[in-house]
Amino acid sequence: MRPRASEGQKSLARFEFDSGVLVFTEAGSQHRAALHVVRGEEGLHGLDAGGPEVIDASPQAFAARLRSENHTLKRALTDPRLCSGIGNAYSEEILHRARLSPVALTQRLTAEETARLRQEVRETLREWVERLHAAAAREFPEKVTAFREGMAVHGRCGLPCPRCGARVQRIRYASNETNYCAQCQTGGLRADRAISRLLREDWPRTLDELDALKKR
Ligand SMILES: [Zn+2]
Repeated sequence: MRPRASEGQKSLARFEFDSGVLVFTEAGSQHRAALHVVRGEEGLHGLDAGGPEVIDASPQAFAARLRSENHTLKRALTDPRLCSGIGNAYSEEILHRARLSPVALTQRLTAEETARLRQEVRETLREWVERLHAAAAREFPEKVTAFREGMAVHGRCGLPCPRCGARVQRIRYASNETNYCAQCQTGGLRADRAISRLLREDWPRTLDELDALKKR
């Protein structure tokens, strides 16, 4: 492997392998991309934000972690202090499969909803890890993107929900967005007053503002 700086403006690094070339790029304007070189497991621990691997968490540990702070589900699943390794795209897929609103508050979830969420976190992550491993084994990854063929709601605003056929909706806030099916996840747009208000009023600019809006 021979890393070297690339000339392209958006290319940050280039890695050449026998089987292909991997170019590390950043398309976003906020310049949040980073590459860290660490030595051994101890070095890795230095980057750990502290959130548990949800895939390994017991039902009790998962519920306790989720209720430790009162946040929207979208925020809780993508906050690396609370849940490790989920991120934006998979949080949307998990919430769609669990039929839970992205703006539902963690401390208001029932025990049944919490158990369903944990189940779908585990199944969604396992399924996608398997799919991505299989795809990488077949060929060198040509495109590195959060959107994957086969996703239900992520990157599919305006397209039909694979479960109910309603059009996938999108909430935008700051440079982020949340895709979800109103029919499956919030009982229709009007049924969820928080989402209706978000749609009528200004979009929150940050995840914290999204939380604050929901708590009002
Ligand atoms: Zn649906």
